[in-house]
Amino acid sequence: MDVYVEKPKCTGCQHCKDVCPVGVFEMRDRSKPEEVNVDSAPADMQWKGVSDPQVVAKWKDVNDGHKHFAEKNDGSSGGISVAVNGSACILCQACLIECEGECIVIKDDAGNVYRSIYK
Ligand code: SF4
Ligand code: SF4
Repeated sequence: MDVYVEKPKCTGCQHCKDVCPVGVFEMRDRSKPEEVNVDSAPADMQWKGVSDPQVVAKWKDVNDGHKHFAEKNDGSSGGISVAVNGSACILCQACLIECEGECIVIKDDAGNVYRSIYK
């Protein structure tokens, strides 16, 4: 299994890390692209310091207790998600319905592609 995050769309909500039973995701500092751009996301979906304006418009003013688009993670949200352990994915699909930015992509070994759609 291969998992990656389309970084410009990640709000930093941390839902993926919280629901994943096998530790695929880590939250990392947005100011350190060298530590963020380590999963298999295509070049245009790696982190270059600019969030997708449509995702920002949708989530920036939502007050649900999560630090949307914050530079650093405080333990509950903030920062940006990286799929550091995609090979451990068991395709439970929990992250796919929790992802605010609809920015998680999973590819199985047969080439099937699964994308997140927020619940
Ligand atoms: S589908 Fe994979 S990456 Fe997502 S929560 Fe389940 S095990 Fe983790
Ligand atoms: S659930 Fe989606 S938007 Fe939220 S931190 Fe994870 S990848 Fe980013």
